[in-house]
Amino acid sequence: MALDNVWVLAETGEAGPTSLSLELLTKARTIGASVTAVAWGGGAAEHAAVLGEYGATKVYDLGDTGEALPGAPVASAMAALVEGGERPDAILFPASYDGRDVAGRLSVKLDRPVITNIVGMSDDGLSTQHSLFGGSQTATARFTGEGPFLYVVRAKSFAAESAGGGPAEVVQTAAPEAGPTAAARVVSRHVEERSGPKLDEAGVVVSGGRGLGSADSYELIEQLAKLLNGAPGASRAIVDAGWVPYARQVGQTGKTVKPNLYLACGISGATQHLVGMKGSKHIVAVNKDQDAPIFSVADLGIVGDVHKVLPALIEALKSR
Ligand SMILES: Cc1cc2nc3c(=O)[nH]c(=O)nc-3n(C[C@H](O)[C@H](O)[C@H](O)COP(=O)(O)OP(=O)(O)OC[C@H]3O[C@@H](n4cnc5c(N)ncnc54)[C@H](O)[C@@H]3O)c2cc1C
Repeated sequence: MALDNVWVLAETGEAGPTSLSLELLTKARTIGASVTAVAWGGGAAEHAAVLGEYGATKVYDLGDTGEALPGAPVASAMAALVEGGERPDAILFPASYDGRDVAGRLSVKLDRPVITNIVGMSDDGLSTQHSLFGGSQTATARFTGEGPFLYVVRAKSFAAESAGGGPAEVVQTAAPEAGPTAAARVVSRHVEERSGPKLDEAGVVVSGGRGLGSADSYELIEQLAKLLNGAPGASRAIVDAGWVPYARQVGQTGKTVKPNLYLACGISGATQHLVGMKGSKHIVAVNKDQDAPIFSVADLGIVGDVHKVLPALIEALKSR
């Protein structure tokens, strides 16, 4: 363990800290002697117990940023803490919209570089892994200058594991006036309708691709996902075709998933898709082309037509 003090930007919602925030806290425990979470949103203090359970001993609660986009006020508050004498050796940011926004702004304020798109990290926290060319190559990077090292980490790079710690100490910290950079306002919020588990947290993911033939056939994916208490996913081809919303896309430019079971239906297995699901524990693929690349990562391959295989699977599950 080469680092003393590691900070984690912890995003929280009504349901508590996001799963990615808990993954980062877990990793922070292995690279730093002490872990501090930085949270905002008005309810951060309520989450001190969970943040502590995953390894944070202290939480800087920046309070409610109101209708301002969080990036500017949160980065200003973090910069003020560092300039005021706090000395994090490294700061881990989730590769979410707000996480990336804060990291970029803090990088400018502290005049420190930021390493993004991290999918792995050494246990001393000094070198990072990055997936290139759709996951076919891995590059290693490391900072050579002074800290704090700013790291932006992709979801599912580390497993979230409770450390069983007690609640973190909460330190209220007001965000300083961020000036015109904080002028952007959130004018409306759209919550994607969903029933069943979240795609990136589900234990079972059933994804469909262009092999379904039409948007209507996606119904088969939704039915199967529901019967397996899983989440429906998609390849980019059918997101681009407008069959399903982007929130369902799995892959390099979509979500990374690591369920217990990933069922790929009518998906060829392009590297950009594989990079988002190949870490799944068990992979089952249905494709009518026995040479489809998806079979190279599948534990079980079914060579067949989705319009025959999926209804049969659905019937079999219903009659259980
Ligand atoms: C920069 C970049 C980023 C990208 N990011 C992503 C990403 O995040 N996620 C992603 O998925 N893709 C991504 N792509 C696109 C990717 O390269 C592929 O184009 C895409 O994954 C293909 O989707 P697909 O497998 O559904 O379609 P196709 O490649 O067209 O495959 C359809 C498959 O269905 C099979 N099939 C056809 N009919 C049937 C049937 N009746 N029954 C069974 N099987 C059938 C075919 O044999 C074929 O294998 C990205 C591309 C680029 C360049």
